[in-house]
Amino acid sequence: GTPLLEVRDLAVEFRTPEGNVRAVDGLSYRVAAGRTLAVVGESGSGKSVSSLAVMGLLPDTARVTHGEVLLAGEDLLSLSRREHRRRCGERIAMVFQDALAALNPVHTVGYQLTEALRRRRGMSRRDAGRRAVELLDLVGVPNARGRVKDYPHQFSGGMRQRVMIATALALDPDVLIADEPTTALDVTVQAQVLRLLAEIQAERRMGLVLITHDLGVVAGMADDVTVMYAGRVVERAPVRDTFGAPAHPYTRALLHSIPSSGAGGDGEGRRLPVIPGRPPSPAALPTGCAFHPRCDTARDVCRTDPPPLEAVAVDRASACHFAAEVLASHDVPPPVEH
Ligand code: SF4
Ligand code: MG
Repeated sequence: GTPLLEVRDLAVEFRTPEGNVRAVDGLSYRVAAGRTLAVVGESGSGKSVSSLAVMGLLPDTARVTHGEVLLAGEDLLSLSRREHRRRCGERIAMVFQDALAALNPVHTVGYQLTEALRRRRGMSRRDAGRRAVELLDLVGVPNARGRVKDYPHQFSGGMRQRVMIATALALDPDVLIADEPTTALDVTVQAQVLRLLAEIQAERRMGLVLITHDLGVVAGMADDVTVMYAGRVVERAPVRDTFGAPAHPYTRALLHSIPSSGAGGDGEGRRLPVIPGRPPSPAALPTGCAFHPRCDTARDVCRTDPPPLEAVAVDRASACHFAAEVLASHDVPPPVEH
């Protein structure tokens, strides 16, 4: 369908003592009502920075140097920062990894929900109070009526994430951006919170942008996936296609690092260390393809020529000189030339 939120060719730079550093370079994505887009990458890939840019929440040291953020067709980047944030407040909500940091520690969760509903939705105190209980109930907090009186620290990690989701839903957003929403939780609770997000998203037909480093999470939830490395998109595809046959060596390596189902049956399988090395700092990107120092498929051209993001099939793009080969190889990596 028509995208609710569309990011076009976004670039974000940070000011540093050593000069400007590009943290996001040429990011594009779109998310429609009722759809889930996963933005995947390791920490430092630019995925969180890009969502802060979408929300108008970049720190003072960063700025958008290129691109558009279209919300229902309107470019938010053409607005004042204040207007930008107001528009987002009306239609986009965000959920973070750390609910303790996002929720106010000195107020009860009931107070926080009620205040949001009164201020942002214009509800009466009485209606807002009732709605706060409904929302906690909706996100699966047991004994919601009693728990509105509790403070954030009185909730377990998983329950706190649910409270934060309730807070996000209070504003009835069209789009929800969830940035590593379950990373701090243990595997069982992760699954529960993700299931909740998926249910709510389907029920309300929200667009969901799910930001994660974990392709395992993506498998069960997303329709489309955008894989980022060192600030750039390296692969873009429908999830089913990516999982069947990745078109980029980095995606392939990420797929191999998904924990297998553990023998103990607790779902906490072993994580295989398949990508040696670390992602580069945006301040010191390798020449050519930024992934080349870690790529098992790299050849000479990779050290000199940056690969453009190009179509490899219908709805699919990859930024790899050997994308066609990778795609054709399925799971068998081509021989490495030294
Ligand atoms: Fe690997 Fe070269 Fe493709 Fe980069 S362009 S991902 S180094 S094969
Ligand atoms: Mg992050």
